Amino acid sequence: MKIKDLLNSAAQVLMPRTCAVCDNPLDGDEHYLCRQCLMELPRTHYEDITFNPFDQLMAGKVPIERCAAFFFYHKNDPYASILHDIKYRNVPTMGRWLTERAAHEMKESHFFDGIDAIVPVPLHYTKLASRGYNQSHFLAQGLSRATGIPEIKALKAVREHSTQTHKDAAERMRNTQGMYAASRSHCHGLDGNHLLIVDDVVTTGSTLLACATALKDTIPGVKISLFTLAAAQLE
Ligand SMILES: [Zn+2]
Repeated sequence: MKIKDLLNSAAQVLMPRTCAVCDNPLDGDEHYLCRQCLMELPRTHYEDITFNPFDQLMAGKVPIERCAAFFFYHKNDPYASILHDIKYRNVPTMGRWLTERAAHEMKESHFFDGIDAIVPVPLHYTKLASRGYNQSHFLAQGLSRATGIPEIKALKAVREHSTQTHKDAAERMRNTQGMYAASRSHCHGLDGNHLLIVDDVVTTGSTLLACATALKDTIPGVKISLFTLAAAQLE
């Protein structure tokens, strides 16, 4: 047995790796999710649907080229734990691993064709300081690894987010207005580019709308598309 395998086995005994969805122990060649849970991931396949529900959500607000989300999520669903883990439980690398898979799976749909740069939804610095990382940056990294499209931190959060959880769509919209601004130094030379904004989840679309507006207001002729790891299935 190689030293590395030996250490892995020892680590398994001391701290068994388990599936983020079903909690069953993972095989040596499984990462984050077991084969079964990965196979049963509730995919949206939005990338193959013309004017999908995500496109419909954004329609009439700000012109968006195309929208996709990798899987459906419902707060009472075991798959919701993926989002919780990448955001709060210090496992953002699972998000990177998932978006890398997503980009590979979506290649045939040509969703990423013509996109010049990937822009993560930023986190306000006070939140960044308490959480230690921005999960959207890891999601952007996964897409970037799979597609070769560079990540550009073209947005910054200028105002702290108050919690969105108990707000309705109109309140969320007001809450996010003016929350984001384009970073002028990073936006230099992006005139006429096609940018893909990336976030963990889309619910009402208010965060993505605020981000798209900030980029459109700053970069002449910019085109915007949207990608989220998950799409909330609303009750
Ligand atoms: Zn599982």
